[in-house]
Amino acid sequence: MSTAPETTTAAPLIGHVINGQRVLDGGRTQPVYNPATGEVIRQVALAETDTVTSAIAAAETAFPEWRDTTPLSRARVMFRFKGLVEKHAETIVALITEEHGKVLDDARGELQRGIENIEYACGAPELLKGEHSRNVGRGVDSWSEHQPLGVVAGITPSNFPAMVPLWMYPLALICGNTFVLKPSERDPSAALFIGELLKEAGLPDGVFNVIQGDKTIVDLILKSQDISSVSFVGSTPVAKYIYEQSARNLKRVQALGGAKNHLVVMPDANLEQAVDGIIGAAYGSAGERCMAVSVAVAVGDIADELVEKVNYKAQTLKVGPWTDLESEMGPVISKEHKEKIENYITQGAEEGAKLISDGRNYKIQGYENGYFIGPTLFDNVKKDMRIYKEEIFGPVLSVIRVNNFDEALQLINDHEFGNGTSIYTRDGDVGRTFANKIKIGMVGINIPIPVPVAYHSFGGWKRSLFGDQHMHGPEGVRFYTKLKTITSKWPTGLTSDPDFIMPTLN
Ligand code: NAD
Repeated sequence: MSTAPETTTAAPLIGHVINGQRVLDGGRTQPVYNPATGEVIRQVALAETDTVTSAIAAAETAFPEWRDTTPLSRARVMFRFKGLVEKHAETIVALITEEHGKVLDDARGELQRGIENIEYACGAPELLKGEHSRNVGRGVDSWSEHQPLGVVAGITPSNFPAMVPLWMYPLALICGNTFVLKPSERDPSAALFIGELLKEAGLPDGVFNVIQGDKTIVDLILKSQDISSVSFVGSTPVAKYIYEQSARNLKRVQALGGAKNHLVVMPDANLEQAVDGIIGAAYGSAGERCMAVSVAVAVGDIADELVEKVNYKAQTLKVGPWTDLESEMGPVISKEHKEKIENYITQGAEEGAKLISDGRNYKIQGYENGYFIGPTLFDNVKKDMRIYKEEIFGPVLSVIRVNNFDEALQLINDHEFGNGTSIYTRDGDVGRTFANKIKIGMVGINIPIPVPVAYHSFGGWKRSLFGDQHMHGPEGVRFYTKLKTITSKWPTGLTSDPDFIMPTLN
């Protein structure tokens, strides 16, 4: 895929999909911006209460029949869905880039990682097989099966408008649930477009619904007695809120939050590889990935050379709009977010970190109103600084210097976030010890962004995930189903004596 995508013909007002139909309810709207130019390119409708109620009702009505379909027929819907997503890939990629701002190849990568989840869901009959034990007692058999939860909801973030929804609903649907998706209101078009392909793939109306909106709509989802579970991905304060409110309303919940991912460079590391890994992971997607590397931990005497090389490469990065096919890093998502990141840079300098490369006031000719920030690099960052403690979610890399491996380990384990981390070393023992002892959900060894593939599961530890189960993969099947265990006997005689003791089945 190397050419520019076809242009999109999306409607200026982005609505909802309920019961297989596009719906506009005439309520509040909110602008959707092109982050590269700062222009309003569409408006998104923020759902009214009645719209949310009818989306949930449509999902509830569709549930009994969908639950009773065979896993094989659900898998076949997913096969057709995958084909359609691939057929329309360039349109979807254009929608992602127009509203999010990430560069074209990055959007293609995002979509590809999303498609992997559809592929995994195509294994529905295998994934839902359950377990069987013959003769748990004489003439008694027992089996455990996965049954769907009912109507389930997904609330997704702005930074992966296509991939994160696809982490959720392909699996939820093949498990026999019906779904209500609320995409990010900042870049809602890609999720809506992809979701509508499900109908074309043969999914019955009402099984999958999309409602657009903000916190007001999220609160309606959280309070609904008809929604059984909530899958959330977004920032940590909202993830915590979602977790607490879902639990209060007796819902199953998985709420994935923010991050501060460290990449450790040991003195024996292949420095060129480590630097390339850092550059892509810190500045790719303008640092707006939950698995972005925002802290490089330089161990021992490697620090000076590391900082020099990272700075050199950061300066050569091509920052620009997605329409320029050579751009390697695009703008950040919004004007407010740009200001927030620039405030962090100001604060880092005031706190005493050494600002090696300053991305504030970054201007690109012809795109003066875009939300661009240049690659920013701090050295000598200390662990009590706000730029170290908090998630910045932008193209800002902090280098922190430590004396040895144990200090690096302790530093990372003490941090409140626990999403991803990585170590660059040529020593297998060091790599293995790191993987064993680190209190982080996803670990890379000489891999800068260790995002699990679709057939493993994705999730952090500590304040990067509230809930018990990670997302997609085997954990996703467990999240979207409840286990039922059936014990069965077919007696040959007509009578039997009552039992007054705990059944022992032997
Ligand atoms: P966000 O928390 O602002 O929004 C996420 C979703 O929550 C959106 O759908 C939004 O409408 C809704 N929302 C926002 N504020 C709310 C509130 N007060 N109450 C209820 N709902 C609310 O996140 P974002 O800026 O869209 O995405 C970036 C964040 O997501 C970063 O913190 C990033 O680390 C995180 N993220 C985490 C993962 C992960 O897997 N852990 C993946 C992607 C993004």
